[in-house]
Amino acid sequence: MSGILEIESLKDHLVTQFSYSTLNQLDSQSKKNIMNSIYTQRHLKQVSLRCLCKPDLIKMTIAYIEEKDAYYLRSSSNQSSKHAETCHFYKKNSISSDSTHENGWKVDDKGYYSVSLNAHDYKLRDRKQSKEPSTASPLSLGEIGISTSKASLNQLVKFLVTQSWNLCIRFDSKKEYPTLTHVFNKIFHTTSRKILVTKELSLHQVLFKKGKIGTIYHLENEFKKKAQPFVLLLLDFFVELIEESSFVIHARNPITQDLYKFTAPFQVMDHASRAVSVSDGPFIIGGFVKNKGFGKSPEFISLSMLPINKNGVPIESSFEREVYDQLCDEQRLIERPIESKYYPKWNGLIPDGLLLDTTPETIIEIFGMSESNKEYHLHRKFKIDHYNSLKPRYELWYWDAFNGSEKPILPS
Ligand SMILES: [Zn+2]
Repeated sequence: MSGILEIESLKDHLVTQFSYSTLNQLDSQSKKNIMNSIYTQRHLKQVSLRCLCKPDLIKMTIAYIEEKDAYYLRSSSNQSSKHAETCHFYKKNSISSDSTHENGWKVDDKGYYSVSLNAHDYKLRDRKQSKEPSTASPLSLGEIGISTSKASLNQLVKFLVTQSWNLCIRFDSKKEYPTLTHVFNKIFHTTSRKILVTKELSLHQVLFKKGKIGTIYHLENEFKKKAQPFVLLLLDFFVELIEESSFVIHARNPITQDLYKFTAPFQVMDHASRAVSVSDGPFIIGGFVKNKGFGKSPEFISLSMLPINKNGVPIESSFEREVYDQLCDEQRLIERPIESKYYPKWNGLIPDGLLLDTTPETIIEIFGMSESNKEYHLHRKFKIDHYNSLKPRYELWYWDAFNGSEKPILPS
């Protein structure tokens, strides 16, 4: 939840609504266009603005700062303390059109991604400094409802797997349709080299790729104090050890089929499983580990559980799994977009899929959340309207799974 802005015409009392998360996801030019129109109407006293996070009237206002050429949506004076805890404006003062949004990711012109994680996710901390795992929500790269200057481990794992799937689809699928093994090979040999955990360390350098679990010890020694070893495997199963307040995690390397055993403190596992919105596996698990001594299983200091479909595509709901499984069964060229920068016409929005083997390419959206989630459905409508406006450059296929609608036939 992050809230809804209502714009009421003072003439005929018609209302328009925008979810703050829509505004926050749009790129700055699209945001500017919308905010300019709101600003103009407000300036001419044609509309009034309110936040709908609470039933009480919370007045909003919009300002334009000329030096910055930017618009700022804010609470009116004396209104800022009125917002609900779930509202964007509970903690933030404004939504601005010049979104230099810091999300902990930077990409250079050679295609290297620097990810800035919270230190406790990838480094051992002294007991005094150690904190509970961060409670930032598992946002995908495009969803920028909550702004934070750090990336979460969930984002890192999702990015790694999604990017690898997309590379397999774009470059290798003519030879052989990608499976989970191809995706892991891509992660181990290509994608992990392009991600920098610190200025001098790539994820590939600290990644446990294969062999005996004891070699994690050497990784830990080699990069001491810079970053702990990183493990990414397919989850087999886990068992809770109630008395020790920890979990034992069994995981598999899908390339070699080797099985490994790890442990995770209760709060690390709890944090990972709370962030997952899909109840059934398969799951990829990823995180940084530390050694617990000779003969003992390494322990996760941070952990993320990523639901995937059977071929290794990250999915966010069982409906998405159904669609992706079918697309993979039919060996369709389906990409899972994760960044919008290559698709300027999407205005910063990121769809659930892009079918490359139709002419034109088809945008795929799967809407699964119940209609009681007003914000989600405002955003749904916004997306459908926008993607429809892109015809004939793109086709649109979407499934309203939330109301039990039958899945439409996928375009061929
Ligand atoms: Zn509010």
